[in-house]
Amino acid sequence: MPSEFDLIRQYFTRPTPSALLGVGDDAALLQVSPGMELAVSVDMLVEGRHFAPQDGPGTVGHKSLAVNLSDMAAMGAKPRWATLALALPAADEKWLRGFAGGFFGLAGKFGVDLVGGDTTRGPLNICIQIMGEVPAGQALRRDGAKVGDEIWVSGALGTAALALAFRQGRVELEQMEAAACLPALYVPQPRVELGLSLRGIASAAIDVSDGLLADLGHILEQSGVGAEIHFEALPLHDVTRRHIGSLSPGSLPRAGERDADSLREAQVIVAKNCVLAGGDDYELCFAAPAARHAELLALAQKLALPLTCIGRIVSEAGLALLDGKGSLMPVAAKGFDHFA
Ligand code: ADP
Ligand code: MG
Repeated sequence: MPSEFDLIRQYFTRPTPSALLGVGDDAALLQVSPGMELAVSVDMLVEGRHFAPQDGPGTVGHKSLAVNLSDMAAMGAKPRWATLALALPAADEKWLRGFAGGFFGLAGKFGVDLVGGDTTRGPLNICIQIMGEVPAGQALRRDGAKVGDEIWVSGALGTAALALAFRQGRVELEQMEAAACLPALYVPQPRVELGLSLRGIASAAIDVSDGLLADLGHILEQSGVGAEIHFEALPLHDVTRRHIGSLSPGSLPRAGERDADSLREAQVIVAKNCVLAGGDDYELCFAAPAARHAELLALAQKLALPLTCIGRIVSEAGLALLDGKGSLMPVAAKGFDHFA
């Protein structure tokens, strides 16, 4: 049986060129570059809540770091160091090998060093702290959106949530459709380069982890502004668009109104909710002055990442969701029901 220290040595001790001292002592030693602020964030992933017991360890390793990198992206910070606190039910080396593969695969891509952690026996639980650097005063905060700013999102919304709905049997996807959506759920790509490029351009930013309405809502609240969003402008994966397309135009049914819906319509509602209130997108939602519009389109080209303007910041508080005719679509007060 390998000891705790054997496991740490074998699976979690790698060179740490960005640290003065990495794994192996009582604490790591880090040096923040001159003129930089340290951005720090932590995220916990619990088996059964954030991932399923049958999920592959490589994807769990990838995703647990990806969600943290996404927070760095949303701050405009360059990720540099991470710590990993791990509770494991058993010293399952096959699982550890897979997990470490997924974790370090992504860490290597962004030059992040694992500099320490803690390993203990217990129900599977993964807690990663990420640390990054951002030039003093340049972090992309949630509280900087200004009236007249345009609101943008990267990538596509709702793909991961649609994949999860498929996994849970709430929506039917053809095999090809499922194959196209599942990577968004299992191996999300954090928008780190976008976050770095938005320094000096975006007035506010957040990563979309709990659904567009909830997360944009945080920007609005903290900036003391409101927003007008055009539902038809929202960037969707082709599969999501196909599943939403057949909903009769007009209102979004609210929770409780679905009893009379046909199964087909219920599935369309699930898809629509995925876009507005589904979790796990890990795209960036940001506000930027309208004068930066062309620059942002050029940035999308450069990064080969779609950036879509979905609306604008207004002075009236709250989030107004508009349909293709410019009519207000109802938004349930507490966000959308997942019909879980
Ligand atoms: P201490 O008892 O002083 O807290 P530990 O025995 O918990 O130290 O850990 C020994 C070393 O291994 C420390 O440097 C710690 O940061 C590191 N470490 C422990 N678990 C992990 C892990 N899962 N990933 C990375 N480093 C780890
Ligand atoms: Mg310890």
